[in-house]
Amino acid sequence: AKQGAEVDGVAFYSSDMNQGMHERMRIESGLRQALGSGQLLLHYQPKFSMEDGGIIGAEALVRWLHPERGMIPPGDFIPLAEATGLVVQVGEWVLEAVCAQAQAWKRAGMRPIRLAVNVSAREFTPTLPDRVHETLQRHGLEPEWLELEITESTLMHNIDRVIAIMDRISALGVTLSLDDFGTGYSSLSYLKRFPIDTLKIDRSFTTGIPADANDCAIASSIISISRQLSLRVIAEGVETAEQLEFLRCSGCNEVQGFLYSRPLPPAEFSRSLLELGWVVSAACSGGGE
Ligand code: C2E
Ligand code: MG
Ligand code: MG
Ligand code: MG
Repeated sequence: AKQGAEVDGVAFYSSDMNQGMHERMRIESGLRQALGSGQLLLHYQPKFSMEDGGIIGAEALVRWLHPERGMIPPGDFIPLAEATGLVVQVGEWVLEAVCAQAQAWKRAGMRPIRLAVNVSAREFTPTLPDRVHETLQRHGLEPEWLELEITESTLMHNIDRVIAIMDRISALGVTLSLDDFGTGYSSLSYLKRFPIDTLKIDRSFTTGIPADANDCAIASSIISISRQLSLRVIAEGVETAEQLEFLRCSGCNEVQGFLYSRPLPPAEFSRSLLELGWVVSAACSGGGE
């Protein structure tokens, strides 16, 4: 699409761009409606320990089940929701839904696993720690059930404020991981100041293993710095046995990817937990959305 031109401070937009804006407004109002009418849902993708092969948690990934368009992936609406601020309401819905799910699984006898919620920069405000605390309490959940994944863009502005928020979240016993690590601009020196538990190696690096020497070097460097800073390190987007082997040899703690499992609807996730022995303790069937 053509960009709008600016002449003497007046913007002229091509009809392409008008269409783009119209489309955005349509998605935005659709998303507003979706929030109120149960069209959002979550899939859960397991994370595994390299040490014993056991499941250690799962990432909650939002989807929009659109009445006409079918399943819309987050990449098609989260960036827009971030731009308009609507992502705050989406995030509130996600945290609530994840905790309701955890509560259902807990009642069914599942041992605590960390359910990771992706949090956008715009949601990372001083009210977040209280909301997390209140939501856990209301659902009768230990903090072991929750993890927040943030990206480097969250760390870009007002570092001291961000660290204060992180400290309060971490004090609750909720862990923090730095998602898509290596793709942003955060300075390595900040890593030691953040109360972060885990670095997530971005899928773009995992994908290049083992063929691309640069990706291999970047991945093993991230693993190495994690270990030296006593952080856990997880590789996302693991699809092949070769990637797994490389990561294992490099000392990566945890893996997540299609090699093991795609993100699954909650009922399928808990069924796999049972059938594939992902979970140590007994009975954990069902659980509502
Ligand atoms: P992310 O947090 O980096 O999540 C990882 C994405 O990689 C997910 O895509 C996941 O399905 C996909 N993935 C996992 N393993 C593999 C693999 O082995 N191969 C390939 N090709 N892909 C894999 P998804 O679900 O489409 O989510 C995309 C992004 O949308 C997420 O990236 C995250 O940034 C954002 N997102 C998802 N849910 C939420 C949410 O609830 N809130 C916010 N703010 N953002 C979300
Ligand atoms: Mg994530
Ligand atoms: Mg990621
Ligand atoms: Mg990623």
